[in-house]
Amino acid sequence: MSAKRLATVMVLVVATGFIGGYAQYRWRESRDLTCLSNLCILGAASQMYLADFNDTLPPAENWVDDLLVYTRSGSGDVTKCPFERSAARSSYGLNALVAGKPYAQIEDPGRTVLFYETAHPGDNPSGGSDDVVTPVRHVPGNAYTYCNGVGGRWSMTVPRFDPGKPPRMGGATGAVGETQPARIARRRAARGGRSSVTVSQIRSRSTSK
Ligand SMILES: [Zn+2]
Repeated sequence: MSAKRLATVMVLVVATGFIGGYAQYRWRESRDLTCLSNLCILGAASQMYLADFNDTLPPAENWVDDLLVYTRSGSGDVTKCPFERSAARSSYGLNALVAGKPYAQIEDPGRTVLFYETAHPGDNPSGGSDDVVTPVRHVPGNAYTYCNGVGGRWSMTVPRFDPGKPPRMGGATGAVGETQPARIARRRAARGGRSSVTVSQIRSRSTSK
């Protein structure tokens, strides 16, 4: 083989490898985005559920059915990470520590997990921090939705599952020395941090991908 021909073959091999690598990158990336989009939709559905059910989060036993009625498809598509291989309906779990709880009892909704990628998919999976799938499913980490409805967000580490203690009058909870009005103001501010994402925004986001 002449040197010129060898050089041409080498260029082709490198180019093929590059294109293949890029195609795989795009393949993974589209699945990453689908997972984030699913958790974003579930977050919005949880906010609609709160509005309809007296500001209480869905119970662990039936949360998938309870939330699917608030999604456009109404099917289990949004409850499965594209990397999940099992036939189970949901690859996302509901944080058992917040399931069925009044929203007001969650100390820091923006940092407390609502949905996570579970190691035990099922019909209505629910569990704690030790139920998070390992190793992480995506290059940027696992996807999560937080109790304020914001999702999905990547995290390489397992975020907070403990919702904190329920508020009590005269309170042992909250910052040391915090007065009742200050506590109420802090809780109002936390609630103000709830997602203001509308369904139409989510739809336009998912269709623009
Ligand atoms: Zn995922």
